[in-house]
Amino acid sequence: MTTTYHGSCHCGAIRFEVDLDLAKDDVIDCNCSVCSKKGILHVIVPPERFRLLTAGATLSTYTFGTHVAKHTFCPTCGMHPFYSPRSHPGHVDVNVRCLDDLEWRSLTVKPFDGKDWDRSIDQLRG
Ligand SMILES: [Zn+2]
Repeated sequence: MTTTYHGSCHCGAIRFEVDLDLAKDDVIDCNCSVCSKKGILHVIVPPERFRLLTAGATLSTYTFGTHVAKHTFCPTCGMHPFYSPRSHPGHVDVNVRCLDDLEWRSLTVKPFDGKDWDRSIDQLRG
């Protein structure tokens, strides 16, 4: 069963809702070059479980390497509340740390070896 959580960037220009089933959805901590520096905790959902509430909001986008992942972030406050991941095209990768009504420290976090992405990815796609 899913519960709707509310998330935002720091300044509030970007707000969204996401439906999570925390008994089933993995919360992932990736050690790749960009995730380490962002400090993101991932949960990956299909688009029907994600709703952007600030439809007119502008997002900036950073890409690198294969340029498949679109690392969107708020141009005002610099936070990365969600993005489009390389691992699951068409899905939304939500930063659990940007959810306002969920205490991320209460969650069980699964490590992902993104430093060795090509070898680890099958485990993530399960
Ligand atoms: Zn912001």
